[in-house]
Amino acid sequence: MTKITNHLPTAELQAIDAAHHMHPFSQNDGFQRKGARIITRADGVMLTDSDGESIIDGMAGLWCVNIGYGRKELADVAARQMQELPYYNTFFQTSHVPAIALAARIAELAPGDLNHVFFAGSGSEANDTNIRMVRHYWALKGKPEKSVIISRKNGYHGSSMGSGSLGGMAPMHAQGGMPIPDIAHIDQPYWYGEGGDMTPEDFGLARARQLEAKILEIGVDRVAAFIGEPVQGAGGVIIPPSTYWPEIQRICDHYGILLIADEVITGFGRTGQWFGSQTYGIRPHIMTIAKGLSSGYAPIGASVVCDEVAATIAQDEFNHGYTYSGHPVAAAVALENLRIMEEEGVVDHVRDVAGPHLAKRWHALADHPLVGETSLIGMMGSLALTPGTGARGRFAAAPGTAGFIVRERCFANNVIVRHVYDRMVVSPPLVMTPDQIDMMIDRLTTALDEAH
Ligand code: PLP
Repeated sequence: MTKITNHLPTAELQAIDAAHHMHPFSQNDGFQRKGARIITRADGVMLTDSDGESIIDGMAGLWCVNIGYGRKELADVAARQMQELPYYNTFFQTSHVPAIALAARIAELAPGDLNHVFFAGSGSEANDTNIRMVRHYWALKGKPEKSVIISRKNGYHGSSMGSGSLGGMAPMHAQGGMPIPDIAHIDQPYWYGEGGDMTPEDFGLARARQLEAKILEIGVDRVAAFIGEPVQGAGGVIIPPSTYWPEIQRICDHYGILLIADEVITGFGRTGQWFGSQTYGIRPHIMTIAKGLSSGYAPIGASVVCDEVAATIAQDEFNHGYTYSGHPVAAAVALENLRIMEEEGVVDHVRDVAGPHLAKRWHALADHPLVGETSLIGMMGSLALTPGTGARGRFAAAPGTAGFIVRERCFANNVIVRHVYDRMVVSPPLVMTPDQIDMMIDRLTTALDEAH
């Protein structure tokens, strides 16, 4: 068989890829016809593909490479850890220093009394942990019937059976038997798309109060928790109206249900503070983290749990865990990532430099005839594509429609941004400089002009 390396011609790599590699969230038949773009190297905020094209990464990989590519420190730490202790489990009365140190560091950074860390290999796994943990928590409190978890339509919490059920993605639920029982969904706080004539503030309150209505409909004695992303990411960067989270918090407090903030995207600086919960004044009982925890250099996720929930769970053996819970190499890489973030002031950079510059350039796109609205917090933003009337036009999520055309033009202009239905989304590496932001937005503008 041919040795498969970066040196093979692109068409050959694409053919082997199409023959053997099933891509996630893709129609793989399409790949066979078109061929995937093959990324061979990356440095800073730039990717290189197998044709030698240099591409600016407006998505930080998949919302995760927050400190940028090519950080030798992380490679060195991984190599050292692999030599010293490549693997050991944390199950049966054993532990190791990388997991201990990372748990302690996360507890230091996390707000409030979120002092306890249950490791997983990904955000999906961490949210599966959360489902079992909150149900077991109520069982230990003598209320096993409190098992319903409420989340939002168009929310994203992962792709496993549990986390995908928590999520409210209709195309996912249409396949493979999701959702699992005892998950309920309310509407998302998407004012631009669904707010009609209401003010954003009134709409935010109305959507939050759906939680109250849902709790009362199901019965408070049945509801275990509410889960939400401080800002819905994969759903199209849906930034909630200012009234939304305070009302959600009030309702959770009032009915005594647990609040889970899924910070897989919003954690570690994305919104201009360490956690989106701080940006939005949320006081979660549990936070889900992954992605930015290691800047994507190693697969790792975790549930970060408050004192009271952790103390309750500690009353019993919690029959749950993953082979790679607290994997020493991933933990060492994550620790080094957090050290770099602190040393380089990455969160301050988002708040004071990159975020404001991106905001200026992003909101200026609202003047483009294809753009109906722009929104942004920190270093995550989205814009709504419209038919050019300024009306709140919606495009279907189908090839040939505006989102697809703009994304295709972005691809051709060597800038990676995503489209979610009719919204274009950016979430670049947090270390992006103002000059690089200009390059990214200039290329996006060219793509919009070409699509117009
Ligand atoms: N939660 C949120 C908010 C996410 O955005 C994601 C992934 O995009 C996940 C959970 C799932 O994480 P993973 O893909 O690491 O399983």
